[in-house]
Amino acid sequence: MAPDSSRPEITTESRTNLVGLSRGALSAAFAELGEKPFRAKQVWHWIYHRGAVDFAAMTDLSKDLRLKLEGHFVVARPTIALEQTSTDRTRKWLVQFADGQKAETVFIPEDDRGAVCVSSQVGCTLTCRFCHTGTQRLVRNLTSSEIVGQFMIARDSYGEWPTPTDARRMLSNIVLMGMGEPLYNFENVATAMKIIMADDGIAVGKRRITLSTSGVVPQIHRCGSELGVNLAISLHAADDDTRSVIMPINKKYPLKELMRACREYPGASNARRITFEYVMLKGLNDTPAHARALIKLVKDIPCKFNLIPFNPWPGTAYECSDAATIEAFAQILWNAGFTAPVRNPRGRDILAACGQLKTDSEKLSAKARRTRDAAEAETAQQAWAEKAASV
Ligand code: SAH
Ligand code: SF4
Repeated sequence: MAPDSSRPEITTESRTNLVGLSRGALSAAFAELGEKPFRAKQVWHWIYHRGAVDFAAMTDLSKDLRLKLEGHFVVARPTIALEQTSTDRTRKWLVQFADGQKAETVFIPEDDRGAVCVSSQVGCTLTCRFCHTGTQRLVRNLTSSEIVGQFMIARDSYGEWPTPTDARRMLSNIVLMGMGEPLYNFENVATAMKIIMADDGIAVGKRRITLSTSGVVPQIHRCGSELGVNLAISLHAADDDTRSVIMPINKKYPLKELMRACREYPGASNARRITFEYVMLKGLNDTPAHARALIKLVKDIPCKFNLIPFNPWPGTAYECSDAATIEAFAQILWNAGFTAPVRNPRGRDILAACGQLKTDSEKLSAKARRTRDAAEAETAQQAWAEKAASV
């Protein structure tokens, strides 16, 4: 069952971790100790604006109060089991939680800003064939504390405390594109994002947060109405036959329903477009005919594309499309009036690029997966060729 983020998280030492409690839950925890709401507000500021990790640093609280708080609470982040920095400066943390489970967090720097890619689950229940995380079984949802904690660890690593003004931040954006399907852990993701968005704390605005989903249709509307963050859809194919093979969730929520949810996404407009992510898989979804089908599919949706060269991982059956094929594909989309940049793979040398994240726990052996994927890819290609021939 999903952990309930409205309840304080109990650490092994049975003191409550304040990180990840919603504002209401934090006030309630203070009220239980007989402390006024403004004390909770002060502590919130220390935790999320200043990055304090213990009560001793909270110098505008009396010594007595600090000791009292210390007796009941902790301000704890997950621990860092491993940190690696790529030759292109991408940084990846293997983050360990109180129960020993691990997930990965990645920072992708640009010249004067950058995005922190946050995980929402340990593993993933879904089994997208091209994704390394998809080979790992779901262990559990991450709590709001563990989701917020990932961003705080990244800030610690770059010393970005207290919260700098927007213009002076390296860690300017958040993408929920790490391990897991965020819309299968919506409550905890929502609590965490509300904490992260709060002006008097970490203060990353909703326009700087992007949630990526494989297409959990029933939760998409909520994501827009409750959080108002940018939406990215892992589309990867324009026809149900191909998409169902590479993304089994498509059998549950086929393209027609997914496109309807996109058309109805609250706040989507030409100024705030939905991003369609499209991983380029050699011979599977990368021909000019596929590009034309894509244009037809997204008619009337304010959107842009993000073409992702497939990032290989040990044991995969897929290959990345050739550079010229990707270029030709992108050109067709640009010619039809769409923005369609090709995502520059980052952090490949440390397996930090899209779809390369993975911790322990196997679903299928690599060999069994390769055999299955090769057979399925062939069937999908045939189905596509037959359809294309009949158009
Ligand atoms: N579960 C969510 C978010 C995490 S994946 C989702 O699926 O949207 C982040 C992005 O990387 C998704 O678009 C995903 O489809 C893509 N991806 C997965 N494996 C990949 C790979 N091996 N190469 C390139 N992109 C990949
Ligand atoms: Fe899960 Fe996303 Fe990977 Fe699919 S692409 S297996 S939904 S993490």
